[in-house]
Amino acid sequence: MRIAEIAVYSHNLPISNGPYVMSHGEFNDVDTTLVKVTTDTGLVGWGETCPIGPVYQPHHAEGARAALLAMAPGLIGQDPSEIKKLHRRMDALLTGHHYAKAAIDIAAYDITGKHFGVTVAQLLGGAEVDRVPSYYALSVGDPDTIAQVAAERVAQGYPRLQMKVGARPVELDIETVRKVYEKVGNKAKLAVDANRSLNSRDLLRLSRECIDVPIILEQPTSSIEEIARVRPMLHHGVFMDEAADSLSTVMRVIGEGLVDGFGMKVTRLGGIQPMTAFRDLCEAVNLPHTVDDAWGGDIINAACVQVGATVNPKNLEAVWIAEPYLTEHYDDANPIKVIDGYIRVPTGPGLGVIPDESKFSVPVAVIN
Ligand SMILES: [Mg+2]
Repeated sequence: MRIAEIAVYSHNLPISNGPYVMSHGEFNDVDTTLVKVTTDTGLVGWGETCPIGPVYQPHHAEGARAALLAMAPGLIGQDPSEIKKLHRRMDALLTGHHYAKAAIDIAAYDITGKHFGVTVAQLLGGAEVDRVPSYYALSVGDPDTIAQVAAERVAQGYPRLQMKVGARPVELDIETVRKVYEKVGNKAKLAVDANRSLNSRDLLRLSRECIDVPIILEQPTSSIEEIARVRPMLHHGVFMDEAADSLSTVMRVIGEGLVDGFGMKVTRLGGIQPMTAFRDLCEAVNLPHTVDDAWGGDIINAACVQVGATVNPKNLEAVWIAEPYLTEHYDDANPIKVIDGYIRVPTGPGLGVIPDESKFSVPVAVIN
């Protein structure tokens, strides 16, 4: 089985009830990149990568497509079921750009699952659950409003909430954390995500003034060095997200004892194959983590859920997908949806999602 053709699409996904507000920007829509990989045996696999704007991570939509077009000619003729070899091939064609390689990786897993008639979760060692816990990301906003939304989401069944903070006076963030906890108590796990934006002074104050609130601090400051400097003075666990940008970084911060868990993105590491290695590293040292992606539709969401289902449940913090913020599904028959705070694991072969191509415009490029 060989890759015969790679088509690359750009697709706009509007955000419902926007804007979605993070410390570094407001978003009303996202530009997602889809790849359709076709084999000489007639199988089709889909991949997706979707940065949330150009500054959340060193990823951007046009960059993903440029990287895919640079690699695609060198991937024609490769066996998509030999996924480690496919990664080495991609690395030989282009250094870095994990988030673009992830789209090819996801499509290769989709094809391989279809080829063998199994789900991606089965290829990864087997699903532990038939639905995975999700979490709701609360935008930066007015503390009373955020606390009210938090209470509504917990009442819906969400087992975890993530509060976005930062890029404003820290007093407002502290007030938000305290009011959310007053509303939801211990009914949900709580994470506070600053998306790299806090300085040491504000982070120490937030942790000190919320000492009785059982939060974890997700990517509170920008660099690993900043986290290392303040960590001994914090009263809460620290999860690393954006700064954990490769398996080697993950190994370093675990080895140095800098983190208590991770918010991890499938595309940041380069796809399902490196994400599975990350899963196993965390299990070996008993660290919890999420299985997320930045944004995107049913394809990347299916990839996250397929991986998340294979994580040891005691270490699976949750699986975040953008679906609650979006209006569109690619596959109306098998949509990946958060229902009562959980996501059903698709059961069809491969990713378990078959997108309706008519929803996408003409490809940006077709390489064969
Ligand atoms: Mg995060």
